[in-house]
Amino acid sequence: METIKLAEKYKNEMIETRRIIHANPELSNKEFETTALIKEKLAESGIETVDIGMKTGVIGIIRGGKPGRTLGIREDIDALPMPEETGLPFSSKNEGVCHSCGHDIHTAVLIYTGKILNEIKDELAGNVMLIFQPAEEGGGGAAQMAAHRYYDVLKPDMYVGLHTAPAIPAGSIGVKYGASGGSADSFTITVTGLGGHGAHPENFVSPVTIAAYLITQMETILARENDPRKPAVLTVGSIHGGTKGNIVPDSVVMQGTMRTLDAQLRLDMKAALKRIVEGCCATMRGKGVLEWDADGVPVLYNDENVTQQIYDSAAKLLGEDHIVVGKEPSMGSEDFSVFFDYGPGAQFSLGTQTPGKPETCYGIHNARNVFDEDSIPVGVGVLVQIARDYLK
Ligand SMILES: [Zn+2]
Ligand SMILES: [Zn+2]
Repeated sequence: METIKLAEKYKNEMIETRRIIHANPELSNKEFETTALIKEKLAESGIETVDIGMKTGVIGIIRGGKPGRTLGIREDIDALPMPEETGLPFSSKNEGVCHSCGHDIHTAVLIYTGKILNEIKDELAGNVMLIFQPAEEGGGGAAQMAAHRYYDVLKPDMYVGLHTAPAIPAGSIGVKYGASGGSADSFTITVTGLGGHGAHPENFVSPVTIAAYLITQMETILARENDPRKPAVLTVGSIHGGTKGNIVPDSVVMQGTMRTLDAQLRLDMKAALKRIVEGCCATMRGKGVLEWDADGVPVLYNDENVTQQIYDSAAKLLGEDHIVVGKEPSMGSEDFSVFFDYGPGAQFSLGTQTPGKPETCYGIHNARNVFDEDSIPVGVGVLVQIARDYLK
């Protein structure tokens, strides 16, 4: 049967499942009900699941009728800590949590992609690994799956996945060749001086003054060290120290985020920041310690060949006029990139905008954004077509 007909066949069920997930959103690493629902749906379809020792997230395996390569299809399942403001009848029932990044759509898409691929598995030369990843919105879900060696079950030769895109009309997808999303590394800098009475600078070392200089010095990495043709971001978003105007505190703590679109630049900037933190603080008689959070995410680099395969498969299904080729990468991050350390992969954008409806255009991470549900069979169709073409 044609892929488009297969995808349309379950449209009502897909929407129903998506609404259940939407109404019951769960935070990163706490996706217990979502995980149970996915397992239940895969079991109903007769799809084998594998326990890799994680509390949340699911790995499903479809073994094709003929030998061949393995395709990994990865989607994320977690929601965000923000109250929903869409006014939809199936709005979040969990206070302060909502699916404003569209991962409810991702989850429903992957459940039905699996269902359909399992129905046609006899025609597939190779296998499909359905990767339902927890904790994309922080908590390092992709890194956890790698640490639990998901690839020992079956090692995917290629990875694909999608993300909702309110900037693109439903019925269309977007692809981006090469760098698509930034690396993201969170850091904490502790500047230590020597506290005391603000009237006696001769006796004390002010970490407040050091921190102020340090921020301006950090800017020189961007202005005076980096290749200006390679974009990067260094943002200090939080700074805390002291309790009162005439007391010099012992320390100041700053937190920030660093983004790049280049793996080498990411390493170079990490080294430069360490040098400047330690050097600037030492020069001013203090001590600077830089620490990186463990859940840093590499650049989301869409392999050119994989992106071309997505383009070709989607063109068969939707027509070339329904594929938007992105020009500019985003400095936003996506931990799907962690999987690309284990094989080539690419992510595409699933259009979720309803033209003429402003509530579908606010964007992801906006509590008012409404996602067009007609996008769900489109996402399923494209993923099924990619699998059929790859496992021919
Ligand atoms: Zn998000
Ligand atoms: Zn997301």
